[in-house]
Amino acid sequence: MREYKVVVLGSGGVGKSALTVQFVTGSFIEKYDPTIEDFYRKEIEQFASMRDLYIKNGQGFILVYSLVNQQSFQDIKPMRDQIIRVKRYERVPMILVGNKVDLEGEREVSFGEGKALAEEWSCPFMETSAKNKASVDELFAEIVRQMNYAAQPNGDEGCCSACVIL
Ligand code: GDP
Repeated sequence: MREYKVVVLGSGGVGKSALTVQFVTGSFIEKYDPTIEDFYRKEIEQFASMRDLYIKNGQGFILVYSLVNQQSFQDIKPMRDQIIRVKRYERVPMILVGNKVDLEGEREVSFGEGKALAEEWSCPFMETSAKNKASVDELFAEIVRQMNYAAQPNGDEGCCSACVIL
């Protein structure tokens, strides 16, 4: 079985844990047990101080903002800059995600704004809901697809360069 190192980045409360837990266990955590929440917080604090290291070892990046929180959309931009800096401007498998699409009535970031940012970054864009499981499997399938593509010999050219050799 192949192992993929996926790093999920975004400011606090956007749903990074909820998306990951939904994908792995197929369930949604509405409210964490305080002990577990504390554990997660510690993990996240440690993560923040070690972010460069995680980015260095990461093979694929899921950049998450909450579409009901404009600030979280602004916060994601320096995180992407950090990835580019640490990865030394390589082409990095990456997806931009607007989470909490089930809260349509409270939306602060339009679909168009998310899409435009993803186009600027030349990466795919998705709106998800960890609560309703909307596009969660698709999200992880897409990042794996991108990582497989990037891992091919001759990287970007992939199949086409193999065709030339044949
Ligand atoms: P993290 O700090 O980015 O890991 O965020 P969490 O996964 O801890 O989620 C923060 C809060 O948002 C929790 O109360 C979650 O239940 C809630 N949440 C996460 N994803 C969604 C979603 O898709 N829809 C809704 N309505 N709430 C969500």
